Amino acid sequence: MSLISPREKCGVIGIFSLNDHNIVPLLISGLEALQHRGQESWGIGVHGHATFKRDGVVSRSAELEYDEISKIEGSVGIGHVRYSTTAKSAVGYAQPIDVGGLTENHSFRIAHNGTLEREGLVENIRDLGFSSPYGVTDTELMGMGLYKLLKSGKSLAEAFEKLNPYLNGSFSIVLLTSKGDLIGARDERGFRPLCLGWHAETSSYVIASESCALEAIGAKLLRDVEPGEIMKIDKDGLESFYFAHQERHAHCPFEYTYFAHPTSQIEGINVYSSRKNIGRVLAEKYPIEADIVVPVPDSARPAALGYSEKSGIPFEEGLLKDRYKRKGSWRSFIEPEKREAIVSNISTIKNVIEGKRIVLIDDSVVRGTSSKIIVGNKLRNAKKVSLLLTFPPIIYPCYMGIDFPTQEELLAYKVCGTSTNIEEINKKVAEHIGASFVGYNDVDGLSKGIGLPKNQICLSCITGDYSCLKFKPKFRSREEMKE
Ligand code: SF4
Repeated sequence: MSLISPREKCGVIGIFSLNDHNIVPLLISGLEALQHRGQESWGIGVHGHATFKRDGVVSRSAELEYDEISKIEGSVGIGHVRYSTTAKSAVGYAQPIDVGGLTENHSFRIAHNGTLEREGLVENIRDLGFSSPYGVTDTELMGMGLYKLLKSGKSLAEAFEKLNPYLNGSFSIVLLTSKGDLIGARDERGFRPLCLGWHAETSSYVIASESCALEAIGAKLLRDVEPGEIMKIDKDGLESFYFAHQERHAHCPFEYTYFAHPTSQIEGINVYSSRKNIGRVLAEKYPIEADIVVPVPDSARPAALGYSEKSGIPFEEGLLKDRYKRKGSWRSFIEPEKREAIVSNISTIKNVIEGKRIVLIDDSVVRGTSSKIIVGNKLRNAKKVSLLLTFPPIIYPCYMGIDFPTQEELLAYKVCGTSTNIEEINKKVAEHIGASFVGYNDVDGLSKGIGLPKNQICLSCITGDYSCLKFKPKFRSREEMKE
């Protein structure tokens, strides 16, 4: 039995127009702006219409099925882009998910970014007939639990409060109720981002995973949805209340170093600036004699700029991603089965790197596959490659929405076990991937670079401290995760 759902790293959006504008074009554009969070499937749920779901990237369907999508009109709706690396990729797993009959009181559609441990949720709704978790996703289980509580007469805040003890993990969600209300909620630790915006032209509130979606549709960022907060938007406007309160938040630093869009503001901090700052931190920590600083495209580019600025070593684009081979930007970390193909889409500018001593900046080494190819193959004509990493060694799995699924796959763990001796990890990882030197960031450098105190960020995959979860998950193998 799988304890942890394969639902992961997605993007959500919800829009409510107070003066009845058709928000569907905004919903589609917002989802396109969140495409980096999930390229496997997508969907929208618009009040008064059946849920629309498709495989692949939004722009492809929006182009091919323009006429069909144009028929969907409404003043409130939600949307989702999805990634999953361990479960089936079928459109049947796409979101939003319908919970309860579409017109039934208390029913709703739900779109979820995050991962929730399933056992507790199954236990919570066993009396609804879910005796086995097979084939039922964490999102469905959470939805059914909520539905059950709402149907029993609980208010929204009471229902979330009652369900919260069973919600072990991360969730940033949007809900569209059968009445046509929009609801947004974020887990009590704030693992995944969620923010609120205002689109003046259509008098719409927008709730989205990242502010890049607001920017894309011309909406203004108002604020983050706070950990433990629920937002309800209806014809009377916006109402906010809390189902939980935790002093210790656990924002995921991986959003800043890799996952989120550089233009986004999360917890008041611009992702691009935090990446650049981390590059400066790395320059202080690892002063290296080199000819050029080169980023692994694309997410490490700001950090390489920061390193270059601080060290005075010129920045060069020695590696370029071929953007024309496939629509959408493949992300090498989140599609493991396609990793080698993606790295093969990185081209080397031979004139730039030949005979040079290179400081190569990357965001992280998870399994080490891409780094080995880049160092050993793409940069084989360089004189020397020193690889610096913006994220500390990943030694433990993530159960809060990023796919570091099993400890046995993590390179730092494979070569050094749970050692926290960073010099030793640097040395062994360098040997493994064939670099002259490897220098990982550490927790202090990560916190300083991002600009969030250590007690406000999640560090579980670095330290093995899972105390921000309600209970520690049992480590699983990849095979067990797939069951
Ligand atoms: S375990 Fe790591 S990747 Fe997962 S939420 Fe925490 S910091 Fe982010």
